[in-house]
Amino acid sequence: MSVAIESLFTKALGLQAPWSVKEVELDTTRRRIDFTLTCDAKQLPCPLCQTPDQGIHDRLKREWRHLDFFQFEAWLHAEVPRIGCSACAKTTQVEVPWAREGSGFTALFEALALSLCQELPVRQAAALLRCQDKQLWRRIKHYVGEARKLDDMSDVKLIGIDDTSLHKGQSYITVVHDLNAKRLLFACEGRDHQTVIDFAADLKAHGGEPKQIEHVCQDMSAAYAKGVGMAFPQAQISYDRFHVIAMAHEAMDEVRREETSTQPKAIKEALGDNDRKLLKSLTWGMRKNPDDWSVKQTHAMHWLQHSTLKSARAWRLKVALRAVYANAVQSNDAQQATKELSAWISWARRCRLEPFKKLAKTLNQKLDAVVRGMLDNRSNAYVEAMNGLLQQAKRAARGFRNVTYFISIAYLRMSKLKHLPANPLLPALPKTNVFIHRCL
Ligand SMILES: [Zn+2]
Repeated sequence: MSVAIESLFTKALGLQAPWSVKEVELDTTRRRIDFTLTCDAKQLPCPLCQTPDQGIHDRLKREWRHLDFFQFEAWLHAEVPRIGCSACAKTTQVEVPWAREGSGFTALFEALALSLCQELPVRQAAALLRCQDKQLWRRIKHYVGEARKLDDMSDVKLIGIDDTSLHKGQSYITVVHDLNAKRLLFACEGRDHQTVIDFAADLKAHGGEPKQIEHVCQDMSAAYAKGVGMAFPQAQISYDRFHVIAMAHEAMDEVRREETSTQPKAIKEALGDNDRKLLKSLTWGMRKNPDDWSVKQTHAMHWLQHSTLKSARAWRLKVALRAVYANAVQSNDAQQATKELSAWISWARRCRLEPFKKLAKTLNQKLDAVVRGMLDNRSNAYVEAMNGLLQQAKRAARGFRNVTYFISIAYLRMSKLKHLPANPLLPALPKTNVFIHRCL
């Protein structure tokens, strides 16, 4: 090709002396464009000790996948000099400006890949880029690690701690979020108190101090409470609303299951029907909000409410606890919420339903922390931070059952990291100094 084309690509690839494009080869049948780059320096500084003007020992052939050039897959090839240094007596390969050490992709290709992985499942991104998903996973881990080194946690005050698992029955992962900034701060395997202590160490490593944490939202697990007590003794704990309501659902299901197996006749009589499907409608009707009931569920729930079944009492208790929470969100008044919750607890204690008596006892023991979980929109902030993106990250990691990689993609998507490479396809250049090449 002409010299003009080579100099055009030298500029387009952002190369500077001593590097330039020596040869461009376009293969339309293979849909491939190959650039041969050359370094015309005779002497270079030693990459290790920076001593200038050292001789080139030899050159090693290497290649890199680059961003596609229109419909053509682009590859860069170069013989990379190794410097024989007279000062430190070592032989070291020079760094090339378009790729990081040891990577077979250019930095721009990696940046594009990373941007795609923020939006698409990794396997799909790999298919689009025509590479292996394993190659992308390794890079996600690398760049996330680099970006997290520079992450700043110095203004975190309100955190949420929860556990999740990649697949049912698999080992647990603890996730810690900044509930104000709504971003993932930390994730690690396990869900014991040590995970909270590990987070405190990570916070310190990122410019934070444990004493700056004023508030922790969490489930009622004793392990997290123990960890918070050890690592953040001055922080107030609040028990998240969604976990408390889930406990009420569990208590209600327990009552219904027990009654269905020991008193099947009473249930059938109350529902006035032997239809097995009606029993199923009852199960779901009890779990759902009345607004979401189907016709059959409305029917089953109508009969339930007119019965003297234990299940009916259990359902009323569950609904009443939800109402206590809804009122607290409305009033955002600690005194009022404490009063209403205490009234619910004393009802549940006298209800002669073992699972609810147990729940009432638990809530009473942690009354202040449960009430704190009702206020200041903390529970909603908690769920917003914890759920949606985490599910997305799980989908992104589908087909790759590796906890380390899952944690990396969770950081990539949920941590709002500021030091990731930017997407090369977004216009980032100022409009001045634009290089225009006109083929006349
Ligand atoms: Zn040297």
